[in-house]
Amino acid sequence: MKSSDLCICGSGRVFGKCCEPFLNYTAKPKTVKQLVRSRYAAYALGENSHREYLVRTWHPATAQNIRMADLMAEGHVWKSLEIIDTTQKGDLGRVEFKATYAVDDGPDLVHHEISAFHRNKGVWLYLEGKVEE
Ligand SMILES: [Zn+2]
Repeated sequence: MKSSDLCICGSGRVFGKCCEPFLNYTAKPKTVKQLVRSRYAAYALGENSHREYLVRTWHPATAQNIRMADLMAEGHVWKSLEIIDTTQKGDLGRVEFKATYAVDDGPDLVHHEISAFHRNKGVWLYLEGKVEE
């Protein structure tokens, strides 16, 4: 994806002014929404360097539970992200989102999750997620 392309997270902004600076570590997300968007972009782009971004933005308190399957879902094609609700209170954040994907050429499926975030020394990190039915 080029810097001038529309960002894969669906924000409507160009990649170079949206998730790219986070994915290449030249900037850090200031809001939980930016973190969710950039983590979605990391999944959607799926390159190895972006998997490291997922690990680096995982809170150390829960990072030991990361499974490889959390970082790469074989054959998943991520299609769109919809942020439903965001709350940020002090160093705690919560984001409800739906991510639409398909496995290989299968039908569209929806991953509906409520994620919790914690700001650690000024940096937003993914703490855990609860998958909704
Ligand atoms: Zn983006």
